[in-house]
Amino acid sequence: MSGKMTTKQLQQRLDTMESEFHGFGNAAATELMKHNQLIYGLLSDLGKLETIKCENCGEEISRPILKGIENTDECPSCGKSLFAVTLDDFTGEEE
Ligand SMILES: [Zn+2]
Repeated sequence: MSGKMTTKQLQQRLDTMESEFHGFGNAAATELMKHNQLIYGLLSDLGKLETIKCENCGEEISRPILKGIENTDECPSCGKSLFAVTLDDFTGEEE
């Protein structure tokens, strides 16, 4: 018999790995958000940020106006065009 792990031991290992992974993921997400806020705050301060209201979902999207950075006209919130109303899956519902 070699050091084969029991199912219980294996489960414990998995649980530990999972919580470690979650901790790492959360830390990375928090860090990314901080960076995002910094960058957008800075760009806004420099007047290098444009805010567009999505024609489809009404979400206000901020995007940088920088050389070398290509902006997509696709709304990150609803995935449709920021500038043109798409009637594809128009539900007829009103807010
Ligand atoms: Zn949208």
